Amino acid sequence: MNFEISIEKVKNSRIAEFDTENIGFGKIFTDHMFVSDWNGQEWTNHRIVPYGPFQLSPATSAIHYGQSIFEGMKAFASSKNDHDILMFRPEENAKRFNRSAKRMAMPEIPQELFIKSLTTLLDIDRNWVPRSEGGSLYIRPFMFATDDFIGVKPSTTYTYAVFCCPVGPYYNKPLRVKVEEEYSRAAPGGVGFTKCAGNYAASMYPTAIAQSEGYDQVLWTDPVTHTLVEETGTTNFFAVFGNTIVTPELTDTLLAGTTRESVILSLRTLGYQVEERKLSVQEIKNRLIAGELSELFITGTAATLINLDGFGHHGEYFSVISQGNQIVSTKVKNYLDEIKTESQPDTQGWIVKI
Ligand SMILES: *Cc1c(COP(=O)(O)O)cnc(C)c1O
Repeated sequence: MNFEISIEKVKNSRIAEFDTENIGFGKIFTDHMFVSDWNGQEWTNHRIVPYGPFQLSPATSAIHYGQSIFEGMKAFASSKNDHDILMFRPEENAKRFNRSAKRMAMPEIPQELFIKSLTTLLDIDRNWVPRSEGGSLYIRPFMFATDDFIGVKPSTTYTYAVFCCPVGPYYNKPLRVKVEEEYSRAAPGGVGFTKCAGNYAASMYPTAIAQSEGYDQVLWTDPVTHTLVEETGTTNFFAVFGNTIVTPELTDTLLAGTTRESVILSLRTLGYQVEERKLSVQEIKNRLIAGELSELFITGTAATLINLDGFGHHGEYFSVISQGNQIVSTKVKNYLDEIKTESQPDTQGWIVKI
């Protein structure tokens, strides 16, 4: 298939207003966005247009019934050649986007169109990719139902779009998490494995409660017994026991992070043992007390990797950082960050250059 993309460029770029020293996260948008329409039969009208608002009917199906999915990924400036922009494993985001679409009864998007939407947009807005240390361009592909019809059924029309925000270095402070035993993020047979908008809406109230108790994030447990660790808000979970690193196995109640898989493969490359299996809160506690747990960390596109300070369970706080170290997490974070910017050879074929 050949996807023709029409291009309407902005008359005046906003890039001069962009303060590269003070980027923040998610508040500045690049000049352009990509948009494509599903007309009920096929994706049509692929276009790059100036970044700006959509006009929507009040009856827009996505607003009422929540057929809305997204992806999150980053592009980096190459450390080797200032002109090169690097994307990290975009095919994985394409595949996950389509897993989300299928579960939400939305049309899938050809991987070729997904990748072309990203490469075309990044090429046009390439000057927005921060060159500063730790800076990157956050990319947000998303799709939502656009029928204006009141009735619960899959929409016949959809919009797929992509916009980008330059982001600064992620302030990597170790986090305090609350082991959540009352609320659930996902249920067996549900949509926890998708990046559908509703999953994030549902997590906000429990997270706000945890934050009012002095935590940064919720550590979700399995929805049936609340004894097995799953993941946090938008990150996957790892526990380091000496040279063995354990991460919860994938189920339909947790999100298969690309960073998670890349961390697993990188840890193995670096000579560590990785187990994907059930991991109970009790095991973490027992092995912390036995002196066998050296690090807890979480992984996701936004930060790559963040260490956990410790966790709260049944109202008691267990500090991990005070009796552990950050050796494994630091090693794997640096390794991955170097691959993403071409400071380390891309032996796995993870990088797509623009
Ligand atoms: C996006 C996300 C992750 C991390 O996925 P990455 O592909 O590594 O960014 C983990 N958990 C949830 C719930 C997420 O939404």
